[in-house]
Amino acid sequence: MFFEVTDIEFVVNQAQKNNILVVMDNTWSTPLLMNPIKHGVDVVIHSASKYLSGHSDAVAGIITTTEKYFPPLRKYLMMAGICLGGEESFSIYKGLKTLGVRLDTQANSASKIIELLSYHPHVGTVLAPQLITHPDHCTYNKYYKKYNGVFSFSVACVSDKKRDEFLAGFKIFKLAYGWGGVDSCIIPLH
Ligand SMILES: *Cc1c(COP(=O)(O)O)cnc(C)c1O
Repeated sequence: MFFEVTDIEFVVNQAQKNNILVVMDNTWSTPLLMNPIKHGVDVVIHSASKYLSGHSDAVAGIITTTEKYFPPLRKYLMMAGICLGGEESFSIYKGLKTLGVRLDTQANSASKIIELLSYHPHVGTVLAPQLITHPDHCTYNKYYKKYNGVFSFSVACVSDKKRDEFLAGFKIFKLAYGWGGVDSCIIPLH
């Protein structure tokens, strides 16, 4: 989770020169922060289980594409019989209505936590593209309109035991391998 930011237009240019289709996973940013198709990406996929449904109550994915690739993609999906269930559709439909306010609120909370962590004596590095010290800060700002609420940080020089105690000490953050809902989660990466 280093939050490396790809220079999308560079990749698209290289791909187009070589007649290669560009597919991008845009789960992290959602369509509100960035639209990859505007930068020449051909197919965009989203996990709707994250920000789009927003309440950790649906497992779903979304594929969007350009007019050129829509007919063959639709034909394939129809033939494969892939169809989202009614309950998941309802959850995503409801979630989308609050996507903007959820993203903004989460980004604001994250930026406060990022600032606190940046000065904390036991924190090594905070990795978030909103920090001017992040190597891809400029690339991020070239493509993305705003920030979201996901970031990472390293804890300086601690034993596994101390790290586990640290993780067990959180009162608000849950230990969970998921994000994009309304709960605050923390995931240890070993
Ligand atoms: C979680 C995640 C997925 C997978 O999503 P599910 O809906 O849980 O299958 C795909 N891409 C990214 C970037 C993710 O974070």
